[in-house]
Amino acid sequence: MKGICILGATGSIGVSTLDVVARHPDLYKVIALTANNNIDLLFEQCLQHRPKVVVVVDADKADSFKAKLQNSDIADIKVLSGAAALEEVAVLVEVDSVMAAIVGAAGLLPTLAAAKVGKTILLANKEALVMSGAIFLKAVTDSGADLLPIDSEHNAIFQCMPAGYRTGIHAKTARRILLTASGGPFREMPIEKMADVTPAQAVAHPNWDMGKKISVDSATMMNKGLEMIEACLLFNMAPEQIEVVIHPQSVIHSMVDYVDGTVLAQMGNPDMRVPIAHAMAWPDRFESGVEPLNIFDVKRMDFEKPDLQRFPCLRLAYEAIAAGGIMPTVLNAANEIAVDAFLNERVRFTDIPVIIERTMHKFKATPADTLDIILETDQQARVISREIAAELAH
Ligand code: NAD
Ligand code: MG
Repeated sequence: MKGICILGATGSIGVSTLDVVARHPDLYKVIALTANNNIDLLFEQCLQHRPKVVVVVDADKADSFKAKLQNSDIADIKVLSGAAALEEVAVLVEVDSVMAAIVGAAGLLPTLAAAKVGKTILLANKEALVMSGAIFLKAVTDSGADLLPIDSEHNAIFQCMPAGYRTGIHAKTARRILLTASGGPFREMPIEKMADVTPAQAVAHPNWDMGKKISVDSATMMNKGLEMIEACLLFNMAPEQIEVVIHPQSVIHSMVDYVDGTVLAQMGNPDMRVPIAHAMAWPDRFESGVEPLNIFDVKRMDFEKPDLQRFPCLRLAYEAIAAGGIMPTVLNAANEIAVDAFLNERVRFTDIPVIIERTMHKFKATPADTLDIILETDQQARVISREIAAELAH
């Protein structure tokens, strides 16, 4: 029996994780759940899963949540609030596995805390890894933690790696990774129309049902940029060894090309419960609740090279990793601010890469040796990109 802590339980990944947990009550017990402010959903989750402790980051919402619990038969659940409490629950002794499913940089500190004490990390929160790179991987190596990718592409790559493979290690016989991308909703839209894209259009992803931020990232293809950096880190490969392939059907979730010419692909229906169940059962397998892939429904599979003119965010991610040092931290922070400004209709869709590029130009790629440097860079990049977004605001 393993104890699990779900950071970001009320999000898209959190909900899918609890769906998988509910199918395996003999193998997983929920110890801790965290939410930013969605206390209604958190309450339902508590009724079903009976965690020992929950974190509601927002203090007022945490008070409302406590009041809600008082008149219920789950009044014994401990309620904490504030960002520091996320770290506290991620390292509890009863916790074996931590699902890192908070969106953005807010997930870094609790995920890193869990890695440092050797918890099994189920990593959905790619931003945490991209912004902290080597520091995160060192925490994992030093503690001997298992780091298992939840991002569907990275989970696919992990599954295509040689037997006994562990993340962070360079697999010598693997010469290339083919990182697939759906291309998002605007793959075929005339480029001049992209300036008028609305948040509602951008979050309507053709194949995956996800949180708003990652949906916008998929539409700009920054998601693939972040994933390319994530792949370099998780699989210890150079950016040149990672080829982004647009595959609009999202049946293949990524591939590994070996020195003998073998290409291994992982396929399945586009449902995050597949990678979640894989990582939770690893190195075994168990049921995820996902329908079997009907191969006859897959009429065809197409593959295209991405167009960097259409998707400047992908180019910026390649530039950030080539520059190295703090630049991926800057890229990530500026993207979070730009996406937020777009979702709040302050800037246009096409302003997103402009904000990121201008922010990157304000920084030199100095070394990212310590957590303090990373956190400071993250804050500085947010201040600068907010100013740039304000200048572009319409
Ligand atoms: P979401 O927006 O649906 O959920 C985010 C969760 O994080 C919520 O539980 C929310 O309460 C919590 N949260 C938000 N801001 C917070 C803060 N400041 N402090 C503490 N908690 C906070 O997002 P999602 O789609 O579930 O994505 C979560 C992560 O997983 C992201 O990093 C995303 O890139 C990654 N991911 C998601 C998918 C997917 O299919 N949704 C696929 C691959 C990777
Ligand atoms: Mg992905």
